Amino acid sequence: MSELSGLQIFKYLPASKKGEHTNCKACGFPTCMAFALNLAKQKTEISKCPHCPDELKKLYEQNNRQPQKTVDINGLKIGGETVLYRHEKTFNNKCGLAVVIDCQNSDWKNKINEIENFKVKKINEILKIDLLILKNSKQEDVENCSKSLNTITFEEFNKLPLKIIIDNDFQKTKDELINIRKKAVLEKDENYSSPVCVYLSHTEDLDFLCAKTSYYICKYANMLVFEDFNENLFTALMTLRQNIYTDPQKPLKVESKIYEFNNPDENSLIFMTTNFALTFFAVANELENLQIPSYLIVTESDGMSVLTAWSAEKFTAKTAAKTVEKFGLINKVKNRKIIIPGLLAHMKEELEEEIKDFEIIVGTINAFEISDFVKNLENNSK
Ligand code: SF4
Repeated sequence: MSELSGLQIFKYLPASKKGEHTNCKACGFPTCMAFALNLAKQKTEISKCPHCPDELKKLYEQNNRQPQKTVDINGLKIGGETVLYRHEKTFNNKCGLAVVIDCQNSDWKNKINEIENFKVKKINEILKIDLLILKNSKQEDVENCSKSLNTITFEEFNKLPLKIIIDNDFQKTKDELINIRKKAVLEKDENYSSPVCVYLSHTEDLDFLCAKTSYYICKYANMLVFEDFNENLFTALMTLRQNIYTDPQKPLKVESKIYEFNNPDENSLIFMTTNFALTFFAVANELENLQIPSYLIVTESDGMSVLTAWSAEKFTAKTAAKTVEKFGLINKVKNRKIIIPGLLAHMKEELEEEIKDFEIIVGTINAFEISDFVKNLENNSK
């Protein structure tokens, strides 16, 4: 069910039929059309029009119903999705990843230690297991269990208002997940509004498990519960999940500062780029692998890539100079050369005017060319 437009709402109001109460202003708007347009944007309430037909009230209520409920498990939010595809709007809550620990197994405490120590660092985020579920546990097991992980008992898990699919057959689970999300989002059918959890009760071929749970993350599990823990599997799933559940409307950015690679000193090379996360990691990777010491000045540019930042005036000679000054580069180094991205070659003179005492060198357009560029630089200086 697509959202009701102002025109669709207007069709039900008195002015569209030139009937009694046309543009009566009782709603606080000068015309029925103005009311309809504001109602479509949810800037007013349907109850403000005393002449609204029941048919419109019903349609409006149906349209505004939340397709999927949000379930909060001690701060871990799952569900609450409103779309089928991320590009339509955004996904709201990432697919939770949970592990069941059976306290009757002799090594259950070691397992918990292993899970507690497991973390993956990706694009400025520390990724961890979202939920531990203790099976066959005693009260003291729960109390003495992990302090750093969200933990519930198996009984508590079973009481959560979730639709649980026991995964026995990939095709069936996949079809059920798709069907439930479509019913929830497209038809706003309340019978399908609970977040969906897939329970993976058996251990099997790891490659297949990874492939099918990757599919479930994409379409459309709100939580996956595993009876087994495998670092490689969870690393892959968390990386995939991070890609899907980042908000495309919010740029990924890193902190603006001077980053150091391979223990730089006062004579090390100095590079500059913007704080768009993908640009940063591409350049940082190259600099790290060069195995020569270097600095990377990252300017604040609202998480935009180099050319976008320049065209939106988020990367200017003045902002670049401010960054250099703010982090005291002049006191850190004797080297007086800053290498800028090749895409900003046209800014060389401007930058030299603003960043006093430094010569600007035009670097490469692509990060993968940095290694050759540095070799040429070294050869030329011999
Ligand atoms: Fe139109 Fe209803 Fe507003 Fe009157 S109160 S102007 S009928 S929308």
